[in-house]
Amino acid sequence: MTASIHYTIQEIAKVCKAKWISKNDLFSVLSYVSLDSRKISYPSETVFFAVKSKSGDANLFLENVFQKGVRNLVTDNENIDPANFAGANILLVKNAVSALQHLAAFHRRQFSNENLAVIGLTGSNGKTIVKEWLNQLLEKDYTIIRSPKSFNSQIGVPLSVLNISTADNLAIFEAGISQPGEMKNLEEIIKPQIGIFTNIGNAHDEGFKNIQQKIREKLLLFKNAEFVVFPSGDQRLLKEMHFFQKKNNQIQLFSWGTSTDDILKIISIKKTNSFSEIVADYNGTKFRIKIPFTDDASIENAINCWCMLFILNKNTKALRERFWSLYPIEMRLELKSGINRCHLINDSYSNDLSSLRIALDFLEQQKQHPGRTVILSDIMQSGIKPGQLYQEVASLLQQKNVNKFIGIGRDIFSHQQAFSVIASRSFFKTTGDFLKNIFLSSFHDETILIKGARQFGFERISHLLEQKVHQTILSINLTAIAYNLRQYRNRLKPTTKMMVMVKAFGYGSGSYEIASVLEFNKVDYLAVAYADEGIELRNAGITLPIMVMNTDESTFDALINFNLEPEIFSFGLLNQFSDFLKKADIEKYPVHLKIDSGMHRLGFLENEIGALADFLKHNHFIKIKTVFSHFAASDDPAEDAFTIEQFNTFTRCCRELEKSLDYRFETHIDNTAGISRHPEFQLDMVRLGIGIHGFDSSPEMQSSLKNVSTLVTTISQIKTIRAGETVGYGHKVKVKNDSVIAVAGIGYADGYSRRFGNGVGKMMINNLAVSTIGNICMDMTMLDVTEIKEVKEGEEVLVFGESLSLKTLADWAGTIPYEIMTSISQRVKRIYYEE
Ligand SMILES: *Cc1c(COP(=O)(O)O)cnc(C)c1O
Repeated sequence: MTASIHYTIQEIAKVCKAKWISKNDLFSVLSYVSLDSRKISYPSETVFFAVKSKSGDANLFLENVFQKGVRNLVTDNENIDPANFAGANILLVKNAVSALQHLAAFHRRQFSNENLAVIGLTGSNGKTIVKEWLNQLLEKDYTIIRSPKSFNSQIGVPLSVLNISTADNLAIFEAGISQPGEMKNLEEIIKPQIGIFTNIGNAHDEGFKNIQQKIREKLLLFKNAEFVVFPSGDQRLLKEMHFFQKKNNQIQLFSWGTSTDDILKIISIKKTNSFSEIVADYNGTKFRIKIPFTDDASIENAINCWCMLFILNKNTKALRERFWSLYPIEMRLELKSGINRCHLINDSYSNDLSSLRIALDFLEQQKQHPGRTVILSDIMQSGIKPGQLYQEVASLLQQKNVNKFIGIGRDIFSHQQAFSVIASRSFFKTTGDFLKNIFLSSFHDETILIKGARQFGFERISHLLEQKVHQTILSINLTAIAYNLRQYRNRLKPTTKMMVMVKAFGYGSGSYEIASVLEFNKVDYLAVAYADEGIELRNAGITLPIMVMNTDESTFDALINFNLEPEIFSFGLLNQFSDFLKKADIEKYPVHLKIDSGMHRLGFLENEIGALADFLKHNHFIKIKTVFSHFAASDDPAEDAFTIEQFNTFTRCCRELEKSLDYRFETHIDNTAGISRHPEFQLDMVRLGIGIHGFDSSPEMQSSLKNVSTLVTTISQIKTIRAGETVGYGHKVKVKNDSVIAVAGIGYADGYSRRFGNGVGKMMINNLAVSTIGNICMDMTMLDVTEIKEVKEGEEVLVFGESLSLKTLADWAGTIPYEIMTSISQRVKRIYYEE
């Protein structure tokens, strides 16, 4: 997250009421605020705020930030040692988040109401969509600054506001809160003149006593506003609005709804299959808009936007017509597989500087290929002169290590000399020109960001570059993985290390993609089953230490070349590896000793420890990094006595080894269930596995985890069959009544087990459960959809995900989530996304 400003560190120190820890260059102008060590493009012009948030403590990255060249640091850590940051300005503040907020509030005060109209949005749902739609409606008439994505938190709001520049004349910011006391801060930063209270949901928020308290807190955003838009249909909101206005009588309420008191009186809402038409009365005149959506939420969002047009005096026919072109908002960046082993990031709905920065950050984090390509359209309505704009874009691309650039659009075409800093570049006046003139074979083994404003129709480009496979997709939420990791970390002592198991292609979810999230989130170790898996991670740029569980002589060479650390589980392996190291003239190579404390799989037994200790005492080729063991039943309360016995056996073995070695090693035994049920056994390190994927045997821990994987397929065909006819292989399953059968594009070759056949398994269509009928085929499954009215060919079918847990599937099939996850075949396309 970055924001742009123009202040010196002295000004910042004053605004943040900071103490100086060290003072150096005081005069350089700082243009960027960063909170994320990965996302620093212009280190010498950046001030870094070391903020503690739920995703971690940025103080841990300060040295890293310093090494990148940042010389202006704001921290609330009193123990920072200035000796490690020679030449830097270091400011000490009480709380880094508040300091950031003070800076943002100060920045906001630099813009007067005459030059900048500020819209503030709050409410339970729809904030981001209303913000994006207002932008779509008004971008031709204003230079708009708005919150990127849904930056609406105590950190997101200041970062958004710090982006305001003198070129802007309209600002749209959202504010979201989770507990009392938070809105006051956000109001001081946003200071909106106009507000929209989108709606109030029924969801019980943990942070609030009741709905009334929640509404009152949210309303504080508008305490200095002139107008507030809100739907009057909700009595609770209506009542609180009037109460609020009594106390803040400068406010004019702009309500909409079906009451005669409403300012915008809704006369009718007509829905067809593909659009809705809304007719309303304003000041005695009838107006109408048409939107290409039919769901209630979209209608509510559109009317909230419409009210804003009245307030801004923009209710012209031309503007109303823009409602017809509103389009849905893609809120997340996705990584998809493309042709010729490419990876694609598709963001073809909008193109402005702040969303471009976010997309480029995401691109830079992808390390699968050295080649990074950007296909970019003209940037519309930036408020900056094109010459300067494209200079800025080019230098941003260079910072983010983009080595191939394709510019599309008349503006970019005529400013192509700005991009001479990029090694490979080409330019086209229109998307059509590009499509006519490119060779698909020129794209291979690279990560491609496709980013274009809507009117350029870049979906034609992404369509062409996407790998066409049968449409069964496993999507993996990387943000949820990081979230789940934190849930486990919170149960451990801060000093306990974490090893995360990414064996078997990361439990089926992807090896490199998962490992890179784990590396970023500072786990201490990774473990894989085979050397090949470790090599793949190294080739993809993973630098964490990696333990390999199954090794033999044929892989020793590779282990050493790729800096992988083997698990040693037998005397045979120990001798072979030691001999190998001796021949290769390598000393003290790190290995991990596996003790068999009762699982009776791999490992040394207790009665072998004496001999093992003797061997190791005199051996300088091998260095024992850790000693570990594995629980057989840590998930089962009925087996707790056995688990304790395993732990005791393990501790005895470790003690015996310790006595013979003249150096220390670390110990570990807890797996996922061990962490949640027996945190007292956490020792020096734990080995987390299935937990990061959102599964835990303890119900309490389970309820704190997020769903990670979603498997979706599509319906290939729908047919009606008559009573007495049969379905599928075997000619056995007769239907009793006339039935409607949908053929879904997933079979046992995709990992959907035959055990799910004949009604054992269910899938979901439009949130309704449907049963399998007949045997599961290799590539297809038949579903009985007789009871469902509106089902179409091509429609999505949920195989598992948030609303149908993989655990439920495992129960149906009489197995465990591990087996289902690791069985999803490699031909199923994986999509990774961050929220
Ligand atoms: C797979 C594995 C784990 C992780 O187990 P989970 O139940 O997924 O947490 C831990 N240790 C070893 C040795 C393993 O093989």
